[in-house]
Amino acid sequence: MSEPLHPGAHLRVIPARPPLLQVDGVSLEYRTPGRVVRATHRVNFDVHGADRFVLLGPSGCGKSTLLKAVAGFVPPAEGEIRLEGRRVDAPGPDCIVVFQEFDQLPPWKTVKQNVMFPLRHARGMGRAEATDVAMHYLDKVGLAPFAEAYPHTLSGGMKQRVAIARALAMRPKVLLMDEPFAALDALTRRRMQEELLALWEDAAFTLLFVTHSIEEALVVGSRILLLSPHPGRVRAELNSHAFNLASQGGAEFQAAAQRIHRMLFEAPVEAENIGERAVHA
Ligand code: ADP
Ligand code: MG
Repeated sequence: MSEPLHPGAHLRVIPARPPLLQVDGVSLEYRTPGRVVRATHRVNFDVHGADRFVLLGPSGCGKSTLLKAVAGFVPPAEGEIRLEGRRVDAPGPDCIVVFQEFDQLPPWKTVKQNVMFPLRHARGMGRAEATDVAMHYLDKVGLAPFAEAYPHTLSGGMKQRVAIARALAMRPKVLLMDEPFAALDALTRRRMQEELLALWEDAAFTLLFVTHSIEEALVVGSRILLLSPHPGRVRAELNSHAFNLASQGGAEFQAAAQRIHRMLFEAPVEAENIGERAVHA
């Protein structure tokens, strides 16, 4: 028992809440006949509720593989991933991924049917409730008027909005996004970043967002995990609450971007080569 701060102080003990998501010493590997490719090496990070947590690193450093592991699609070769303290070992409705590709929507379903499908099948909602929830989230991304349209009639940005509505409608514990705006033109990308931040203000979900763009990481993230080139290891974890779309281009923003660039690319190269190794059967 610790002493009270001053006589008569009534201290109420608030139990420390464990992080929502814990990535604990996670190494991920791809095994092909004759060799093992290590995608990430002993990565650690914690995501708390309502964080906008960004994984930032160069192409090939294992960001997508990490996201797939968090979503339960790739089992760790070592370490453990826990959601609310429970080990993640299979995909489920608590972690939903929005991918970069525009073809993530089945083309034979309308926009509304696309959003309804996982609500009906993974959340077990009846038709009427699923329709209401789908329309609510389509309205939030500005696509209610396109509910009966088919995906091929939509622009890339609109398809991504449908994918975001479909994911948010599931009320996942963590929304995972893998470079969702990377294939969009620059103006649409900026607009989508703005909309995502507005949705987050509105719905306060927990976001785990992958990007290779330093600027995007600073704009979207409240925390940024810097990963080294292949295989991805944690270089640093930074706070980036201070930045938003309005600060982009400002002196402080530029200075932060340059600092991150140096941390990503100018840190000493590891002597040890653990990226690939032969398998000795
Ligand atoms: P990022 O998303 O950061 O670009 P990835 O997670 O896609 O990186 O890939 C990490 C590493 O794993 C890369 O070196 C890549 O070549 C390798 N890799 C990815 N997918 C496979 C696969 N299916 N089989 C073998 N190696 C893979
Ligand atoms: Mg990737």
